Amino acid sequence: MALNLFRSFSRSIPSVALRGSFPLVTQTIRLEPAIIEYVNKHRQLNRFSTEAGGQLFGLVNTDEVRVVLATGPYRGDERGRFNYRSNSMAAQQAIEIQAKAGLLYLGEWHTHAEDKPNASESDMDAMKKLLASSKLNVNALLMLIVGRMGELDGLGLYSVGNFEINHWILVEDD
Ligand SMILES: [Zn+2]
Repeated sequence: MALNLFRSFSRSIPSVALRGSFPLVTQTIRLEPAIIEYVNKHRQLNRFSTEAGGQLFGLVNTDEVRVVLATGPYRGDERGRFNYRSNSMAAQQAIEIQAKAGLLYLGEWHTHAEDKPNASESDMDAMKKLLASSKLNVNALLMLIVGRMGELDGLGLYSVGNFEINHWILVEDD
C-alpha cells in the first residue's frame, strides 16, 4: 500500500454539472455546476476545519430531479469535526423563502473530513427522522456528502425514502 505523506487537494474545482442515476429508477438527478462550486467551498481541507452543511433546493419532474440551489451553513449551527446539524430555525426560514421563489426543498448537504465520503449510521438516522417529521412535497430526501477530494469521487449522493436508501452513481453531465 502506498503511503502518501504529503497530499494536496485542489482548492478550486472546475464547476461541471453532475448527473446521478440508480438502477431501475427512471428519474435521474442533476446537480448544477453552481451547487458543486458552492459545496466545494466548504470542504474540510485542514485538520481543524469543522463540518459544514445546509439545504438543497430545486425542481422535480417525472424524468429528472434538478438541484439548483444550496444554502447554509448558518449562524447557530452545531458544527464539529465529525458532526453537523443545521440551525433548525434558519433551515426552516430558507425552506420558506425558497418555496416562495418556486423551489422545492429536496434535502440536505454536509461535509465530511474524509477524502471519499461515506454516509454514517447517524447520517442515515437523521435523514429518516427528517423525512418522517416533515410535511414534504416529495417522498424522499436527498443527502449530498462532500468529501475532501471535491471531484466526482469526493461526492456522495444518497436518497432516503420510507423504505430504502439509494447511493446514486455520479457522472459528469453536459
Ligand atoms: Zn455525515
